[in-house]
Amino acid sequence: MTRPKRRLGQHFLHDPAVIERIVAAADPRPGDAVVEIGPGLGALTVPLLRRLGRLDVVELDRELLPALAARCEGLGELRIHAMDALALELAALGPGPFLVVGNLPYNVSTPLLFRLLGQLRHVRAMCLMLQHEVVARMAAAPGGRDYGRLSVAVQARCAVRPLFRVGPGAFRPPPRVWSTVVRLEPLAAPAVAPALDGAFDRVLRAAFGQRRKTLRNALAGVLAEEAITAAGIDPRRRPETLTVEEFARLARQAAV
Ligand code: SAM
Repeated sequence: MTRPKRRLGQHFLHDPAVIERIVAAADPRPGDAVVEIGPGLGALTVPLLRRLGRLDVVELDRELLPALAARCEGLGELRIHAMDALALELAALGPGPFLVVGNLPYNVSTPLLFRLLGQLRHVRAMCLMLQHEVVARMAAAPGGRDYGRLSVAVQARCAVRPLFRVGPGAFRPPPRVWSTVVRLEPLAAPAVAPALDGAFDRVLRAAFGQRRKTLRNALAGVLAEEAITAAGIDPRRRPETLTVEEFARLARQAAV
């Protein structure tokens, strides 16, 4: 077997109790369209495939694929996509909607989350294991240190349910950080319509690119002060105090 590659975030789960908890949290049903990101050596893939009989997996490291395929032999139809998950188009895998599962590579988890957020119309739910701090940022409320672009972008579109923490000892090799399993379910009525995704993203990047500035100064290149006021928001406030709904109102102004 090849040595785990740190640059690909390869920390393989080996604790059967943790593996069982993650699969139970993902709650795949027979017939579900499920895609696993970063199957590695199959810690989650094997139990998922046993339950489902069919599974799509997306793995960047081709050297792992022979061992993965061998472990899954006879368990069902494993469709391996040897590619970068950052280039993944869910729609290309089938009609969906997909349950997305993964013990994500920590080094790319934030861009991967943004990519998945852009494809939510093909997602039924996501059950992901991430570095604990990333889940804290996703679930953060306004005003706190963790509240930022990721919090607003996720909460505008998904219900965020942090489930349980997992310590480094559950992995080989152990990472330096704790992990948290989180379930994300797309909202029936997201705070921003998909047509406003571009404007929303521009507002969030500007607002959180410049911490400790007032909204008026942070948004200078994106929204005029009058437009902020027209959204019913005081331009002297600091961006990190705004709620998700208030950011959605600013996106509507930015789109006019
Ligand atoms: N699911 C396995 C487990 O729980 O033991 C492995 C998890 S390991 C934290 C992350 C996996 O994602 C590795 O197999 C790694 O090769 C793969 N990976 C890293 N970057 C990737 C990318 N950009 N696209 C797809 N897979 C990637």
